[in-house]
Amino acid sequence: MTLDEILEEVKKASSIVILTHETPDGDAIGTALATKLALEKIDKNADVIMSKYARTFDFLPRCNEILTEGKQEKYDLAISVDCATFKRLDNREYFENAKRTIVIDHHGSNNMYGDINYVNPVSPACSEVLLGILSYFGVEVDVDMGTCLMTGIITDTGGFQYPATTADTFEYAAELLRKGVNISDICKKTLQTKTKANFELSKIVMDRMEILENGKVAFSYITTKDMEDVNAEEGDHEGLVNIGRNIEGVEVSIFIRQRDNEDAYKVSMRSGEYVNVSDVCLMFGGGGHPRAAGALVQGNVEEVKEKLLKEVRKYLK
Ligand code: AMP
Ligand code: MN
Ligand code: MN
Repeated sequence: MTLDEILEEVKKASSIVILTHETPDGDAIGTALATKLALEKIDKNADVIMSKYARTFDFLPRCNEILTEGKQEKYDLAISVDCATFKRLDNREYFENAKRTIVIDHHGSNNMYGDINYVNPVSPACSEVLLGILSYFGVEVDVDMGTCLMTGIITDTGGFQYPATTADTFEYAAELLRKGVNISDICKKTLQTKTKANFELSKIVMDRMEILENGKVAFSYITTKDMEDVNAEEGDHEGLVNIGRNIEGVEVSIFIRQRDNEDAYKVSMRSGEYVNVSDVCLMFGGGGHPRAAGALVQGNVEEVKEKLLKEVRKYLK
């Protein structure tokens, strides 16, 4: 059984590093920190490495211990969480240099790039996959670990709203709530509270919003200059793709943001009921989930928009 193999690897390792995808979201950070805390329960120390993360997540227990570079070049074991491909992994040199590698994830587009891969594509969050692993091993989830894991679940399910949310999700949430995890506070900090820059960017996104394809597609964008104008920091673009998705009749919301003044845009795509946006984004070398996916596409705003629309049209009813 894969999970027993994972425990074997963990027991053998005397140095462990935990990595996740670039521009980490709540699920990435929450799962990474919870993995570190869980390893401590079996007397294993692990380093969590991330180049940068949004200050929204500064409330997470032990986030002050996140490193920007490793304490050593070669670790015995590298664990990747919430990351579908090696290409998207932040600080991937530590994964490459590690003696053994484990991938824990929930993306259907995961291409199994570890020595051991534990991927559950029907799980709404990687945090929920980890909760399943911890319950298999009978690891006690305390309030700190629970806070990290609930942050992953809440951010990836939009506060239990997205269709990938399962009965298990609510059962885990109920269990953690009884233990004292403050779910309401996590929702407030991660979903409701907006930074000023995010609010300013929302106005720009709304102003530029185009409703296309007989109302089925919403499109908007921000440039590097927009982000500079509002003094945007890491994570300030989060949630902007939802503005289009929430409009009546819209099946696909496309939001693109410029990368470093280049002719290249990071695409965020969301769908309502039937378009598999992960399939659409796979066409551009990206991926994700059926209702939430992303990619990096070359070109200016008009070019990127046309490339994406051409592909999306094939899926619209
Ligand atoms: P985002 O729109 O950035 O919030 O991403 C939505 C989902 O798609 C997340 O689950 C991401 O992990 C995934 N995703 C975003 N960009 C990429 C990419 N370039 N390659 C693969 N998956 C991606
Ligand atoms: Mn993620
Ligand atoms: Mn996730």
